[in-house]
Amino acid sequence: MAQLSPLLKQATPVIVDHGEGVYLYDTDGRRHLDFTAGIGVTSTGHCHPKVVRAAQEQVGKLIHGQYTTVMHQPLLRLTEKLGEVLPPGLDSLFFANSGSEAVEAALRLARQATGRPNVVVFQGGFHGRTVAAASLTTSGTRFSAGFAPLMAGVHVAPFPYAFHYGWDEATATKFALRELDYLFATMSAPNETAAFFVEPVLGEGGYVPGNTEFFAGLRERADRHGILLVVDEVQTGFGRTGKFWGHDHFDLRPDIVLIAKGLASGFPLSGIAASKDLMAKAWPGSQGGTYGGNAVSCAAALATLEVIQEEGLVDNAAARGVQLLDGARAVAEKTAAIGDVRGLGLLVGSEFTTPDGTPDTATAQAAQKAAAERGLLLLTCGAYMNVVRMIPPLVVTAEQIDEALEIWADVVATVTG
Ligand code: PMP
Repeated sequence: MAQLSPLLKQATPVIVDHGEGVYLYDTDGRRHLDFTAGIGVTSTGHCHPKVVRAAQEQVGKLIHGQYTTVMHQPLLRLTEKLGEVLPPGLDSLFFANSGSEAVEAALRLARQATGRPNVVVFQGGFHGRTVAAASLTTSGTRFSAGFAPLMAGVHVAPFPYAFHYGWDEATATKFALRELDYLFATMSAPNETAAFFVEPVLGEGGYVPGNTEFFAGLRERADRHGILLVVDEVQTGFGRTGKFWGHDHFDLRPDIVLIAKGLASGFPLSGIAASKDLMAKAWPGSQGGTYGGNAVSCAAALATLEVIQEEGLVDNAAARGVQLLDGARAVAEKTAAIGDVRGLGLLVGSEFTTPDGTPDTATAQAAQKAAAERGLLLLTCGAYMNVVRMIPPLVVTAEQIDEALEIWADVVATVTG
């Protein structure tokens, strides 16, 4: 009898029968409060009726249009709709299937457009698991161990992760930008550097928001040196942070934006957005793929965008995000085991440390496991897997946040008591 490969590691033992809104129901009929949202994917909740309807209708009309052979309406309509929400000037889109593929697409475009070989990434960044995306990833050695040699031409600068350094935000930011300039002087000359790849909030790296000064420093250097600023919105886009884009919090103007996850409510779809002028620097046929821009995924994405607008999900993420962050902070105040609680919108992390600031992986893992046993599904992240993250669907209600926080308070008291 065939079995699933043991190389797949699962955060919980749950076998799901179906999902509805913020809840997953397992094969024993038990209900779980899903504060993982499929790693930030099911923003409209599980099986939102409007998304289900759009996908079902599309399945009966056309499943696979193959966009390098023929064009189809869902892709054209989605492109037009995304034009309403994309940052000004980023009006040209290419679609793929996963976040990693979007990263690959942006890398290819950046190298072709600039004729430069190198890229700079920021420590703690996660960009995916393909060779190129893993090469750009520094959120944990687990994503690249045993996989070397990775792609050459990647250089790593610090991210202003103030809690990690034990500094205030301004000091961490000054340090990060000074090290970036040092990197230009020592490892990758600006005229050999094609792009910065950066997340508005480190996701897998521990739910660490960047800040306005840091991103202004990146933008200024990008402009000065002709380097492209690629903003990876795979986890932070589509309202997750309480604004439509994560970078909206930081008054940042990207050259390329990467989209996936929350875009299509769980259907595989990703893309990159840039200006037409920039896209025109690559050549027709330089990118493609069999499944990119799948018709059903596009129909689901179109419905997802409508739901986000009609149900005011960005505002809900902002309001519920404050409730969640405040609640998680109140839980942390009662224990010395949580050193920092941070986040933006419905993307909240509690970092477990010993009183001297050493990462406490064991307690974080115990809390995540105990929460799952109590019916609250959570994930961990961070280089040491010592940050418990809460990332519920954007449709979450105040009552559901309270329900989760109540379980979280009990769980933390139990595992640290
Ligand atoms: N970029 C970011 C910021 C991500 O969070 C992820 C996935 N966690 C990816 C890229 C990779 O996306 P995928 O798993 O769809 O390849």
